[in-house]
Amino acid sequence: MKYIDEFQDPGLARRLLDDIRASVTRPWALMEVCGGQTHTIIRHGIDQLLPEAVELIHGPGCPVCVTPLEVIDKALAIAARPEVVFCSFGDMLRVPGTGKDLFRVRSEGGDVRVVYSPLDALRIARDNPDRQVVFFGIGFETTAPPNAMTVYQARRLGIRNFSLLVSHVRVPPAIEAIMQSPSCRVQGFLAAGHVCSVMGTAEYPELADRHRVPVVVTGFEPLDILEGVRRAVRQLERGEHTVENAYPRAVRPEGNPAALAMIEDVFEVTDRAWRGIGTIPDSGWRLSERYREYDAEHRFPVSGITTREPAACRSGEVLQGLLKPHQCEAFGTACTPRTPLGATMVSSEGACAAYYLYRRLGTAPAARTPQPAPQPPLEASPVV
Ligand code: SF4
Repeated sequence: MKYIDEFQDPGLARRLLDDIRASVTRPWALMEVCGGQTHTIIRHGIDQLLPEAVELIHGPGCPVCVTPLEVIDKALAIAARPEVVFCSFGDMLRVPGTGKDLFRVRSEGGDVRVVYSPLDALRIARDNPDRQVVFFGIGFETTAPPNAMTVYQARRLGIRNFSLLVSHVRVPPAIEAIMQSPSCRVQGFLAAGHVCSVMGTAEYPELADRHRVPVVVTGFEPLDILEGVRRAVRQLERGEHTVENAYPRAVRPEGNPAALAMIEDVFEVTDRAWRGIGTIPDSGWRLSERYREYDAEHRFPVSGITTREPAACRSGEVLQGLLKPHQCEAFGTACTPRTPLGATMVSSEGACAAYYLYRRLGTAPAARTPQPAPQPPLEASPVV
């Protein structure tokens, strides 16, 4: 299949691996930012094929995983209101809040619906003028443009019974926070190609320069990952730290101007809490003043929320690359995709789900590697 088979070619993969092996002279730690990249790496065993000196650290780029517990709990409270039709992509329904998830709200009588586009939710609002329709707008720079477009259309069409519960996050401030953490081991980044297809690459040179880390914009197929690793290792071995685009079939330096204009019109930058990590300055978007009437948090004030994370869940450390999923005590025992304790086990982009699906390490506890000492979350650091 075009654009699939040619990026999974075993012969080319072997050549890239040979090239990486030939260039490595010392240990390097690279972080793949996106959960989609993590799944490709674990599914195809790329981390096991790489020379031992090259370690891949899994980053926080799973939108479902980093949506803060407080926002999940607000979603649960809003979805339980009798006048509300609560619409979401399917992967959010099983994410545990404090005590329950959206599936439970639905089983208790809440009108919770899975949609495939925010525009589906807008259509439901148009067809049900006596109901309040809320769309759960989460994610990175990739989902921000369609969510912005939906709010823009709601305003243009005069559909007032629609609102967005927003929890958008931005990648560059997260990279900044990771680099400033005292426990950071990352020496180079494989940046998320789809994010850069929207945003372009202009946000990265300053980051790469200031922290002296190579940033390679990388795609999602096995050969994309290997090419990203090859370029990052080559830079590190040469003592370079520039931004390279290894995903030119999707990413232009200027990004997608139409999508950027829509984001600029509808959203404004704000501080945002990341689940398991803490608040990162300027790391999110919220609806701008002009569109504030479409903000579900303003339309349905929810107070008295007391969040409580499961004590056994170490997803904050997983999301910061401080812990591999199978090093969590609950992995594969108390926590499985059927009985998830944390969002990283629920999401199709979550690192814990990837390890469970493709490695099944939880069924062989004796094979686990020793656990490192718990690390402080980033929020404990003065820099975030
Ligand atoms: S395995 Fe489960 S409990 Fe452990 S960090 Fe992952 S989601 Fe949390």
